[in-house]
Amino acid sequence: MALIVHKYGGTSMGSTERIRNVAKRVAKWARAGHQMVVVPSAMSGETNRLLGLAKELAPPKPGDDHNRELDMLASTGEQASSALLAIALQAEGMQAVSYAGWQVQVKTDSAFTKARIESIDDERVRADLDAGKVVVVTGFQGVDDAGNITTLGRGGSDTSAVAIAAAMKAHECLIYTDVDGVYTTDPRVEPDARRLTTVSFEEMLEMASLGSKVLQIRSVEFAGKYKVPLRVLSSFTPWDIDIKEEARSGTLITFEEDENMEQAVVSGIAFNRDEAKISVLGVPDKPGIAYHILGAIADANIEVDVIIQNLSKDGRTDFSFTVHRNDYAKAVDLLKAKVLPTLGAADIVGDTKICKVSIVGIGMRSHVGVASNMFRVLSEEGINIQMISTSEIKTSVVIDEKYMELAVRALHKAFDLDQPAA
Ligand code: ADP
Ligand code: ASP
Ligand code: MG
Repeated sequence: MALIVHKYGGTSMGSTERIRNVAKRVAKWARAGHQMVVVPSAMSGETNRLLGLAKELAPPKPGDDHNRELDMLASTGEQASSALLAIALQAEGMQAVSYAGWQVQVKTDSAFTKARIESIDDERVRADLDAGKVVVVTGFQGVDDAGNITTLGRGGSDTSAVAIAAAMKAHECLIYTDVDGVYTTDPRVEPDARRLTTVSFEEMLEMASLGSKVLQIRSVEFAGKYKVPLRVLSSFTPWDIDIKEEARSGTLITFEEDENMEQAVVSGIAFNRDEAKISVLGVPDKPGIAYHILGAIADANIEVDVIIQNLSKDGRTDFSFTVHRNDYAKAVDLLKAKVLPTLGAADIVGDTKICKVSIVGIGMRSHVGVASNMFRVLSEEGINIQMISTSEIKTSVVIDEKYMELAVRALHKAFDLDQPAA
């Protein structure tokens, strides 16, 4: 008997029919002798619907902050789906109970809409499991010290599931979703993408941080920190497939590098359409410039991603960086108000129609020329590179958004990702 955590995403919970299927699958696992904790997302579209209602009532304006109430609101999506799943499990003849984050408790900090889990008290859940119940715990939400409901950021149910698995020392955390594993790139953009049977933790961390939405980055971080065995698999297989076959399916995130295995140079391609570029033009090239510009941005709690500073000409230079698109207007306003006058820069310009495309692979550590290969492929497609950023196992470029699919497909082919691994 093992303690297993299942997580079901929004599409997998998208209708009563699908919830019934989830209940049947979970019941199969419980009847095979496992203690089951299940973490559902809100039914598909529900979080967007709720947040859309708030937007209708209060279109976002600089200075406005409804974040506490947004969390009160968005968390109801998971509360509803969890209760429905517990009811469906009971209808299958199982003993089942559902809990909201504050009932468990899943303790977080108070950063509304992007809270971080600090601790999980699993006593109540454990007592229910020992009494033979299936326990359903809401994804995406927690509670802060003051008793406010918080949410963990979009896609946060993945993190809820992995954190619960870590706290309870679960045997495995299975992330059930609408694809049958982690692919070489998003199969919606490249139909020739291939499923990976395993992916290293480091590569998964890069892919998630560079925009592959199949797992929320914090869930991968948790899995790494607490060594939670983690698998991504399909919720669309028939619920009654052989449990052993199901347990082997999908993609396993691995923590140990297999020394004997020849690592693919590039294992995957990620892309991110959520960023915008800001350039401060004609800044005097002297010490303290980066700090002056990015310090103001950091003080406003805005995260910066890719940064470049050009060579100076006549003692002046251009300084560019990217931020999340949601933070773009705030960042530009702030720079115009605070930085432009004090710094004596010529202008501030921006571009929201950009995207970042990245190649990721552990094999890049031991191979030279991978980045230049990437640049060659993009140049052959006539795609201009605006910014570049590299680390040991990834190279990212910022390009015009309209070339994103072309770039992903060309790179996927050039790095033989459509071919089965040797
Ligand atoms: P869920 O609602 O189950 O959490 P998500 O929509 O958050 O599902 O994540 C699954 C989606 O992630 C897939 O439908 C796919 O389009 C997208 N995706 C992006 N990159 C990848 C990748 N490398 N492998 C698999 N899926 C990916
Ligand atoms: N329901 C939340 C969202 O749509 C959390 C999740 O699905 O993981 O972002
Ligand atoms: Mg998700």
